[in-house]
Amino acid sequence: MSANTIKKAKALAKDGVVKVEDDLYQVKSSSNAAKSYFVTSETCECEGFKNFYKFHHGKGLKANCSHLEAVKLFKKIYEKKSVKET
Ligand SMILES: [Zn+2]
Repeated sequence: MSANTIKKAKALAKDGVVKVEDDLYQVKSSSNAAKSYFVTSETCECEGFKNFYKFHHGKGLKANCSHLEAVKLFKKIYEKKSVKET
């Protein structure tokens, strides 16, 4: 993963991730604030994620994108700390 992806993911985790339900998150697009993607812990609906499998098909690699990474960070930061909310 590129340093740029990580940078974007960090910014999104802080400010662009909304938990919709268990294992479903809405993540803002970093290039277009009016746009957002639904993301689970394994999948994202953005172009980058879809294209990954097109380009790396059959190599056994797992697709990644800044949104998926943002959700990972978001979980690390917010969901481990307190379970009080619900
Ligand atoms: Zn994505």
